[in-house]
Order: sequence, then structure tokens, then C-alpha cells
Amino acid sequence: MSILKALIPKKLMFNYLTITFLLTLCFSGLIYCTQKDRKTESSITIAIQTFTGIPEQDVVYVEQKIKSFYPKVVVLPKINLPKQAYYKPRNRYRADSILAFLRQSKADDYVFIGLTNKDISNTKGSVKDFGVLGLGYCPGKVCVASTFRLDKKARQEQLFKVAIHELGHTQGLPHCKQTHCFMRDAEGKNPTNEEKEFCKDCKKLLQKKGWKL
Ligand SMILES: [Zn+2]
Ligand SMILES: [Zn+2]
Repeated sequence: MSILKALIPKKLMFNYLTITFLLTLCFSGLIYCTQKDRKTESSITIAIQTFTGIPEQDVVYVEQKIKSFYPKVVVLPKINLPKQAYYKPRNRYRADSILAFLRQSKADDYVFIGLTNKDISNTKGSVKDFGVLGLGYCPGKVCVASTFRLDKKARQEQLFKVAIHELGHTQGLPHCKQTHCFMRDAEGKNPTNEEKEFCKDCKKLLQKKGWKL
């Protein structure tokens, strides 16, 4: 007979066990709820904002590829690029202005990625208007990717890699030194053919945010 049984009368012992059982249930319930809440917090939707001129098949390709990593993706109907983003001297659009436009949406649970076939640019160091493949806040809620500077033959696959790179920035990933990693710095070129996947360290951060990698 245990000391506990010896000290507590039979009737009280039943109550003691019942209370212990109920308390255990409550606590496991609490832990479950906390984990559930945490899951919901990190569960954002990726919204692909398509801009006039981007081929439909490019959008579908990028959508499907992103979905294989992160299932919550929606595609928004095509709209024109914002007029205020147009940079006449180079006949292209300012990527930072496109981001400012996308940011106007107050939807908290969304990350927006704009897809365009127009040339886009940004200020880089001393170069006021530098052509880029894409741009994204790090971390942030908005990014944009363009097909304009991509190889015609590998356009869709390269667009996906630019898109996933910019989405990686929005999730808080900086540039990565691994040459095969999606988060590699383009350094004014197009290194997407050498990029194969997210490296181990970059994967780790995204996995914490619910990405299936
Ligand atoms: Zn980057
Ligand atoms: Zn990496």
C-alpha cells in the first residue's frame, strides 16, 4: 500500500484521483490551445497580384510551384500597374512605387506578390534607376517580380525563382552566400539557373513559419 493510500480514506482517494484527472485534462487542453493559436498567427495567405500583360500560363506556373511549398495561395484578377510608378526617362516602372501601391491594402493576414512582364527598377547605391528582377521588403508584406530580364526559354522557371526569393525576403530572409540557394543575391545579373532550392539555414526559418520544405 502506498503512503498516499494509507493517509487518504477510500472516498477521499476517489475524489483526489478524479480532481487530478480533470486537472490533467485541463492543462493538456490549455497547451493544445496555445499551440493552435500559435499556428494560426503564422498562417498568412500569399496573394498573387497579377498586372496587365503577364501571360496567364506564367501565373499558373508560379502559383502551382509556390503551392507545393506553401498551400495558402490566391490569385487576384489582373489590374494595371500604378501610373505613379511609371518612370518615363527609361520607359519602365519603379519597383519601390509598386510596393508602396501594394502596401495600401490593409489585409493583415496577407503577403502580396506582384507579377509583371514590364521592366522594373530601383535605386541601387549611387545608381538612381537600376533595372531589377524583383524587389521585396525584408521582412514585410509586399514584393514584386518581373519577367522582363529573364531568359525567354526558361522564363517561367526563372520567374518562380525570383518570386520565391522575394517572398523569402518578406518572411525575413536576408541574402544568402550559398550559390545554389534561392536567397542568393543576384548582384545585377540573373543567377537563377544555378539556384536549386533553399539551403538548410534558409529552410529552417521558413519551416518555422509553416512552409513545407
Ligand atoms: Zn534579394
Ligand atoms: Zn540560403
